[in-house]
Amino acid sequence: MAIPVILFGPIGFCPNANKEYTVTNAPIQTSLVFDNSYAIRLDGFYAPVQGDVAPKPRLVALNEPLATDLGLDVATLTAEQLAEIFSGTTSPSGATPLAQAYAGHQFGGFSPQLGDGRALLVGEVVNQVGERRDIALKGSGRTPFSRGGDGKAAIGPVLREYIVAEAMFALGIPTTRALAAVTTGESVMREDGPLPGAVLARVAASHLRVGTFQYFAARGEVDKVRQLADYAITRHYPQARDRANPYLALLQSVSQAQADLLAKWMTVGFVHGVMNTDNMTISGETIDYGPCAFMDNYDPRALYSSIDHQGRYAYGQQPVMARWNLARFAETLLPLLDVDETRAIDLATTEVNRFAELYLPAWTARMRAKLGLQDALPEDTKLADDLLATMEGQNVDYTLLFRGLSEPSFGRAAEVKLLFGDPSAFSEWFKRWQLRLKQENSDPTVRAAKMKQVNPIYIPRNHKVEEALQSMTKHGNIAPFERLNNVLSHPFDLLEGCEDYAVPAPAEFGPYRTFCGT
Ligand code: AMP
Ligand code: MG
Repeated sequence: MAIPVILFGPIGFCPNANKEYTVTNAPIQTSLVFDNSYAIRLDGFYAPVQGDVAPKPRLVALNEPLATDLGLDVATLTAEQLAEIFSGTTSPSGATPLAQAYAGHQFGGFSPQLGDGRALLVGEVVNQVGERRDIALKGSGRTPFSRGGDGKAAIGPVLREYIVAEAMFALGIPTTRALAAVTTGESVMREDGPLPGAVLARVAASHLRVGTFQYFAARGEVDKVRQLADYAITRHYPQARDRANPYLALLQSVSQAQADLLAKWMTVGFVHGVMNTDNMTISGETIDYGPCAFMDNYDPRALYSSIDHQGRYAYGQQPVMARWNLARFAETLLPLLDVDETRAIDLATTEVNRFAELYLPAWTARMRAKLGLQDALPEDTKLADDLLATMEGQNVDYTLLFRGLSEPSFGRAAEVKLLFGDPSAFSEWFKRWQLRLKQENSDPTVRAAKMKQVNPIYIPRNHKVEEALQSMTKHGNIAPFERLNNVLSHPFDLLEGCEDYAVPAPAEFGPYRTFCGT
């Protein structure tokens, strides 16, 4: 497969990176120690911006453990100050707020200029274990990249991102984190009419995206692509620097990180919903929770987003689309991979085609753990795949099935079979699995305990997420959000009185549709 090299015509607008900051309010002194490498080292890759002044900012959620980890002593600030900071109304001292430039393939079509249209990077801090972290806001107002948008966000999508990002974190999946949610006191106009405006404060290993590279590659700015690649290597993959071809090593590292990430998504039934190249990170973290959802019944075609008419980002398509996105990333690196273009294309193509070799072992390892297998045998991929085949068309809840298999004594066989309309194929598979487990001779109690550490009992069930969002949007009641968030922070432990969080939506909830909600 040759990687198609896409050529673009001239692109008009470029942000003015040298614009002076217009300071609206005096900064608030906090304990955050900023060290803003993006602002300093990547001049010309962003536009400085200030958040809008929110009329009546109010803190509705704060992730205190995360704040502490970042060095933010919340006890020294009032709720009003926190709401001002996390709405973008006032910057913490040391911040250099900016909107990042990026491009992206959206549903296969290239947009040469997207960028932070309603987000800003407040700055970077180093956390307690020495990791550099971006603190960013989403919904803080217009930027030079806003195009026709209002730069704002509504409370529903802000809380959805909060819930799902934190649930992913608790499940052990690389992700941006939610630090705070603030209502702004103003309404934002959306399709359904006016909605309460809100801002999400989030934390990421970085906000470098495949689309960041595409922005400069599309303009033919090879030096800038190199500068960005050097920055990405320093920030995320320093070991690549010492390799014979550091840029090829960067591509390999990102491929590996994405293969691992996709394996994790797939083995919890996560459907991102909008895997455009601007929503794929270089760090390998999940980012930009828009129309995402967790699959209930196993179905490779599971799709929740109202805007994905072709099923491009359906559950089963996700590894394929990750590879497609990596091909777009590889294209941006071609001039860096080799001076000889043919050779560069060869190197990139080989790497992109290797994605399955990275993804399949990562997926099989996760499935092995989900099935309580300790030895790695070559036929495990098929064993796991065959289980999925028995589930297809049977309306079997993915999460309940694996949790059911995690009960001691080979799973509660009878109970698990009840999940199937016709359990005959599953029963055959179940016997094979039992034989395989017997060969390993592992202790059933120990095995069950281990399986329960990888097969969650609680995932963000769509009806529970909706209930939390609606309750805040319509009634200003944050309690269901808080309760859901609490439950999801212990996804593997049975919590007393939380049975209703562990079961699929009732039939009257109907088929679930998610909206970008921007
Ligand atoms: P998303 O679908 O959230 O990944 O966003 C895709 C692009 O649209 C990004 O460049 C966003 O910054 C931009 N965008 C989304 N919503 C808005 C909005 N309300 N105002 C301005 N830009 C937006
Ligand atoms: Mg995005």
